[in-house]
Amino acid sequence: MDLRRKLSILADAAKYDASCASSGTTRRDSLSGRGIGSTEGAICHSYAPDGRCISLLKILLTNACAFDCLYCVNRSSSNVPRARFTVAEVVDLTLDFYRRNYIEGLFLSSGIIRSPDYTMEQVVAVARTLRTEHAFRGYIHLKTIPDASPELLAEAGLYADRLSINIELPSETSLKTLAPEKDVRAIRRSMGRMRARIEEAQAEKRAPAFAPAGQSTQMIVGADGMDDRTILATSANLYGAYRLKRVYYSAFSPIPDASRLLPPEPPPLVREHRLYQADWLMRFYGFEPKEIVAEGEGNLALHMDPKLAWALRNRARFPLDVNRAEKGELLRVPGFGRTAVERIIAARRVRAVRLEDLTRLKVPLAKAMPFIVCADHRPGALLDRTDLEVRLAPKPRQLELAL
Ligand code: SF4
Repeated sequence: MDLRRKLSILADAAKYDASCASSGTTRRDSLSGRGIGSTEGAICHSYAPDGRCISLLKILLTNACAFDCLYCVNRSSSNVPRARFTVAEVVDLTLDFYRRNYIEGLFLSSGIIRSPDYTMEQVVAVARTLRTEHAFRGYIHLKTIPDASPELLAEAGLYADRLSINIELPSETSLKTLAPEKDVRAIRRSMGRMRARIEEAQAEKRAPAFAPAGQSTQMIVGADGMDDRTILATSANLYGAYRLKRVYYSAFSPIPDASRLLPPEPPPLVREHRLYQADWLMRFYGFEPKEIVAEGEGNLALHMDPKLAWALRNRARFPLDVNRAEKGELLRVPGFGRTAVERIIAARRVRAVRLEDLTRLKVPLAKAMPFIVCADHRPGALLDRTDLEVRLAPKPRQLELAL
């Protein structure tokens, strides 16, 4: 099979993996005159219209797999064309694409062939060759194989900027049903090992860098019956237990010849978007997962962002005086981002903040005004209006007519 055909099969097979953002790496540069490429200021985030990162060469080493995870197009029982790159082919493609400025790095995953260790050895060999033989300074994200030996994981972290292992589904029960060969304990064990290695390298200045951009994982949304509350609780647990940099959410895509255990339709894509917003609230705004989904509800509202939905459910906590409220409280005001809150706090040290100051900070006033008091504004009865939700929820947009 020629290389072009392999590339089309193995890039297509990799598109279901959302976990490929490239933020947070340490800087490698080529100023010394050795090596090619540089991550300094050169890692940019380019996203496809569906939100997936496209700045990396994102491929599988092979889409053949011994496992039969029902939700996966590459499962052993799937009737798709198979292909496999050699280590040298992936190395050459990466260097070639990099030199042409098409990519800033490599995201490499693989189906499991022969054994987890054999597969992982191949994945590690690509990164080792790029770094040690070609002095490649671009970004490398390796998807690790959970059951692979700790030695291989340890070596992978020396060459990769980021490592990831997909947890895939939010509960052990779902994993047992849909991916019976996967062992959730092995996945968590590997995550634990990676956390320990990353922290050791961070603590010891002279230690070689180990996956400096941290570890991440992906959860498929809508393949099982698990609700958003369960998904967010699992994410919170993963962030806490393994210090993950990111949990990625990937809306389930129906696959050919799918099992009857899978839903025939994908979930609405906006569900994935709401989960990302909720995830952001947990990581940067101090929200607990159980606060984000309404009591008695399993899923996030789809028609408005989770912060606005939370504020509407908790009107008794508002209005907040932007000139007195604490930072943690201000972060909960709909429309107030982290930068705006920092600037409000800086501004109010010198004078009372007014609506025009918020406008200058690009705060969406229509969204924030019912929830705040400032020098020249009080929401009055606005906060108690029964139609407040209707007034604040984004208006549904009419779809364009197909001509
Ligand atoms: S192990 Fe990975 S590639 Fe193989 S079937 Fe499962 S999800 Fe797909």
